[in-house]
Amino acid sequence: MPNDSTLLSGRSAEFRRRALERTPGGVHSNVRLAGAQEFIERAKGAWLYGVDGRDYVDYLLGQGPNFLGHAPDRVIDAVFEACRDGVIFGGQHELEVRASELVCRAVGWADMIRFGVSGTEAVQGALRLARGVTGRTKVVRFEGHYHGWLDNVLTAPRDGAWTVASKGQLAGHLDDFIVLPWNDADQVADALERHGEQVAAVIMEPVMINTGVIEPLPKFLEAVRRLCDAHGVVLIFDEVISGFRLGLGGAAERYGVQPDLATYGKAIAGGFPVAALVGREGLMSRFGTGEVNHSGTFNGSVMATAAVAATVTSLLEDPPYERVTKHSKTLMVGLRDLGLEHDLPLRVEGIPAAFHVSFGEAEVRDYRTLQQLDLARYERLSRDLVRHGLWVAGRGVWYVSACHGEEELDAALTRFESALADGA
Ligand code: PLP
Repeated sequence: MPNDSTLLSGRSAEFRRRALERTPGGVHSNVRLAGAQEFIERAKGAWLYGVDGRDYVDYLLGQGPNFLGHAPDRVIDAVFEACRDGVIFGGQHELEVRASELVCRAVGWADMIRFGVSGTEAVQGALRLARGVTGRTKVVRFEGHYHGWLDNVLTAPRDGAWTVASKGQLAGHLDDFIVLPWNDADQVADALERHGEQVAAVIMEPVMINTGVIEPLPKFLEAVRRLCDAHGVVLIFDEVISGFRLGLGGAAERYGVQPDLATYGKAIAGGFPVAALVGREGLMSRFGTGEVNHSGTFNGSVMATAAVAATVTSLLEDPPYERVTKHSKTLMVGLRDLGLEHDLPLRVEGIPAAFHVSFGEAEVRDYRTLQQLDLARYERLSRDLVRHGLWVAGRGVWYVSACHGEEELDAALTRFESALADGA
């Protein structure tokens, strides 16, 4: 990465220069390779405050985790309080039990849970468990769905096929995956007809938030559920983004279809690094017998379980879903109106707690139809939006938190308009 710190001013320029010296690309996750941006000093509620004095209405929410807003007092207090008496024991503690009960209760259909640190790991646990229980190896997955950064799940399209997305990634690890277009039940039926006896699992984001925030078509999830049952295949919902964001029961509740296993992360812990794998007892208990290995030094730490317990309690006692929906719907309409006023083909679509902004018109139902939109044009706009005080990512997904209210709505629309007026 060239030294782009000259694009910044003040303390950010100096921090960027130093970051580039010691950290590849200046960042600790390739997802954040966005280039030079003001460094963040602190964050509260729906706002980020930069080290050089600018503020930002945040619709990225740390890539999703800050569903309760930044630094929610209840969660921060609970974590600090709990950690005063120790952080990690290499033994069991009551908070683990409480957090496990709370998550299973909130999710509704899940009997058991294992905590982990990242969504990537939770997905690996789910895949291993499905394979361990069924004795099969193949997994059906879908184009454009993201399931973490490890060798067997990271993919990108090239020359009409889904293949490795990174140098150094072992292509052979993708061999057991059958990649299908999203929202096409006939193709799932066909794949299971042909390979059913080798297929351990079907894994999906039940609403494809990562790529375009695309909802499942009516009856698609039901059809996949039926097909999995018919072929003895484990159905895994990757709810790392949708979990606790769409409702307490996540996408499973919203669409009324229950998986056998589900992965959670992000919104589950008020911003702290926690993930979880939940599922039916018949499957999950196989970790407990030791037949299937699932491990991790930091799993179920005091910090993690205090954060989960406080977050889920807060969501149970004061569910923010109605106000998140209201804010999001009003914002989506406001953004569309601004597009019309500026004679721009702005497209704003999605579900309340997450929506997608792009340019163009298309009947979007999967990764392929999404490519008919002008995604690059939005990516350019996103950089202008950040300069105008709206913290959003280049891939078009906006997240709304429990802390977004009237003030944020006004600020977001004013700042969006000024970015458009500046010729973005
Ligand atoms: N699964 C989904 C649906 C995700 O969106 C993500 C991350 O964005 C992951 C898995 C991986 O989670 P993590 O980044 O915590 O490893």
